[in-house]
Amino acid sequence: MISLAFILYFITNDIIMEKKKELLQALPKVDEAIASITRELHEKVPAMLLKKIVRQAIDEERQKILHDAESYSPLDTEKWFQRFREKASEGMQHNLRRVINGTGVVIHTNLGRSLLSSEAALQLLQCGRSYTNLEFDLQSGKRGSRYALVEELICDLTGAEAALVVNNNAAAVLLVIETLAKDREAIVSRGELVEIGGSFRIPDVMAKSGATLVEVGATNRTHIYDYERALTEATALLLKVHTSNFRMIGFTKEVSTEELVRLAREHDVTVMEDLGSGCLLDLSDYGLPRERTVQEVVDTGVDIVTFSGDKLLGGPQAGIIVGRKRAIDRIKKNPLNRALRIDKLTLASLESVLRCYFDPPAAREKIPTLRMLTEDRSLIKKRAQKVLSRLKKKKVGNCSFTLLPTISQTGGGAIPEYGLESWALALQPANISVNGFERDMRNTILPLVGRIEKEHFLIDFRTVQDDDVDDLTELLSAYFSR
Ligand SMILES: *Cc1c(COP(=O)(O)O)cnc(C)c1O
Repeated sequence: MISLAFILYFITNDIIMEKKKELLQALPKVDEAIASITRELHEKVPAMLLKKIVRQAIDEERQKILHDAESYSPLDTEKWFQRFREKASEGMQHNLRRVINGTGVVIHTNLGRSLLSSEAALQLLQCGRSYTNLEFDLQSGKRGSRYALVEELICDLTGAEAALVVNNNAAAVLLVIETLAKDREAIVSRGELVEIGGSFRIPDVMAKSGATLVEVGATNRTHIYDYERALTEATALLLKVHTSNFRMIGFTKEVSTEELVRLAREHDVTVMEDLGSGCLLDLSDYGLPRERTVQEVVDTGVDIVTFSGDKLLGGPQAGIIVGRKRAIDRIKKNPLNRALRIDKLTLASLESVLRCYFDPPAAREKIPTLRMLTEDRSLIKKRAQKVLSRLKKKKVGNCSFTLLPTISQTGGGAIPEYGLESWALALQPANISVNGFERDMRNTILPLVGRIEKEHFLIDFRTVQDDDVDDLTELLSAYFSR
């Protein structure tokens, strides 16, 4: 016997199906909706974009009906227009946009790593808007090399014989290994087979380059005799890799670049060091932990050093290769180099940043990454207080604001274990959860990215720029007075 419940199920199901059909039929047609949209919106939004957002808006409603017709309430004309307007305004925003970094992570890879100095940004703008001598030698009137524009500068600053710049440091490492060790062997310590993030792993890069990785030593300890024993006729390269984003402590031993250079000279092989976050200034002068500078590494006599343009250097994304002329000349001739080359915008801003380093104290002031890393915490506190006092003056409610000492980080795989003392504004919204607030802050036209700690939303002012102060105040006061 068919049960009553079974019959009821079919009847209700039928009713829902019927309602679903009606609701779907009542949805506006794309062309009709576009025709009915106000002239103002037509004037502001390109037709192609308008069509896309109208289609999207209707489709979203369709999905809602299909998903749950019973509790669906149809939009009236005014609601539809409001939806179109919102979507149009979102659609007109650039996808890549300015963000306020309240995380306190200075070299934040997800937020674009280093900020350009005003000078570098201006140079980028000027070169972007004009023709340039990118590959034109103004003296001879003949074809020039884009690399020549920064090579001498880099050599002057690092003491290297030659230099080359490519797309990023990952590209630099790949290009160097491919040139110097393809179809041969490269020896690396087991303690240095790092993963940098974004799927950059030394063993994988090695495989891609066509070189055979020869691992030596133990995870925590590698000795010079480990390298020595692994040397064969097929050895082309000794590779040293900066462990960047992690530290080994305890019973550890690594072989210095100097020792590797000595060994390599005896056996006529090449030595390369991937420094990762190469720095041209000794940051210990500013109270940070000591990291070997690029100049010091070059001084060891190593054949090749590679480092990023947008980590501690504080420039645009780039991979800088410096070292001995003989090795660099071979790398320059590699056809892969052409595929990894940098563009004029990068060159324009990179040159500008590099020039700052001729005057180290000025570089520290002008290059935002260095300024943020070395900024005195009293200045950071002042910036936070400025926002706090303005919020108080505006009587912004619905949230508690507290000034707290906090710890910021370098990021970018540089000085990973070292915390920088800083100040944060800790927010506790009254009418929304801290997670909800965090999400809302990410989804504004000028997004604010912070971090959540102990049920508070923290804005670390080390990475908040002076230029952000007005906008940040405005953003928070507007949000809490809704
Ligand atoms: C960051 C890093 C890289 C990758 O550099 P990108 O500029 O991000 O391509 C390679 N090696 C080391 C040791 C690094 O720290």
